[in-house]
Amino acid sequence: MEKYITSKTRVYNCGNCHKVLDAVTGKAIPKQGDISVCINCGEITEFDNDLTMKPVITPRMQTLQSDHPNIYKSIMLLSNNLKRGFARKQVLNN
Ligand SMILES: [Zn+2]
Repeated sequence: MEKYITSKTRVYNCGNCHKVLDAVTGKAIPKQGDISVCINCGEITEFDNDLTMKPVITPRMQTLQSDHPNIYKSIMLLSNNLKRGFARKQVLNN
């Protein structure tokens, strides 16, 4: 069984849903350039040099898709599932 660790990050607001986030869970401690997904809305983000999050730019995802297709597919699957759940919550709250 794979081990996952939760690491504290700088406190930041998701650029999409504005949820306050302060930690990530993954297989390693995050570093600049690592990609993450907002647990609330599925927005795909990237760690900056000070471990704040910024939106992932399209060329980065295109490179990931061609160089690491299995990682790309996993990120997109997770993001899309979270986005569906977030959309459902928005409907239920309105
Ligand atoms: Zn979000």
